[in-house]
Amino acid sequence: MFSLSQRSLYVEALDLWIDSMRSQERCFVSHGHSDHARQHRTLITTPNTARICRARFAWDDAVFDERAFNEPWEERGHRLTLFSAGHILGSAQLMIEGELGSFVYTGDFKLRTSLTVEPPEVKRCDVLLMECTYGRPQYVFPPYEEVAAQMIAFAHEALEADAIPVFFAYSLGKAQEAMAILGGAGLPLTVHVAIDTLAHVYAACSVALPPYARYDAENFDTHSVLIWPPGGKALPKPLRNKPVRTAVLTGWSLDRGALFRYGTERGFALSDHADYPALLQYVERAQPRKVLLNHGCRDFVYRLRALGVDAEYMEDHAQLSLF
Ligand SMILES: [Zn+2]
Repeated sequence: MFSLSQRSLYVEALDLWIDSMRSQERCFVSHGHSDHARQHRTLITTPNTARICRARFAWDDAVFDERAFNEPWEERGHRLTLFSAGHILGSAQLMIEGELGSFVYTGDFKLRTSLTVEPPEVKRCDVLLMECTYGRPQYVFPPYEEVAAQMIAFAHEALEADAIPVFFAYSLGKAQEAMAILGGAGLPLTVHVAIDTLAHVYAACSVALPPYARYDAENFDTHSVLIWPPGGKALPKPLRNKPVRTAVLTGWSLDRGALFRYGTERGFALSDHADYPALLQYVERAQPRKVLLNHGCRDFVYRLRALGVDAEYMEDHAQLSLF
């Protein structure tokens, strides 16, 4: 039916690129994170991802070919369908069906539902190309409700001790989920400007977020929860001499040494990716006859093979014919 070339993920039969990191004529962009979204002449995306990209990047001359979830279209004898990946708002998986079989590219995904993302879906397919970020058995995230309750308790404890609770969370996706969890529990919120920009996009996409303030050095309410992007973005000067309690929101917080690496006091395993059991569950539900892996832990290939699944890692192939 078609072949995929590794690194670039190019579907020959459709002259279509998938999440290419180089600018292309026409590319499916699964979601708005910058490790997947680049400017192309034409981007095939969901309407929500198009909104996110327009707000984040100055891509004035890009054309967005917007496709809603589960509204298939025909191209060169193939049927293409986008459906929810449940990763962040607008994130999509791509299904390509032809005479010889069906193929699904998951992009980043998770299976649990969340407050700010469209519910994820799994479709049966012949060939599955999936991410496997947390493809090792030690990555089992605690139940979402438990993580949310711990985050809320941490914030209350800090405020009661007259310290500012600071949650480090990616500006796109994780931060809005944290806002929904913490603000939804009645906690006052203050967020970084980048998080505010994307919260506006979420609101425009009809995702209800609780009230919050955008961080302003002159008018900062110290009795408020601060949500701030991680990595490289140090806390603003006016906060440096105040008592703060810090936490990072990431699945990697399960790793030994993670808190040292992130430089925070606590870590909460709030992740936008599937954990190990969810990766296995996806394969079980999709029932593919072949699984291809990219973006993640190579060991997962061997774990799937041990379960009798025909699995390969994409990087082992310069080019792969699927049917
Ligand atoms: Zn992502």
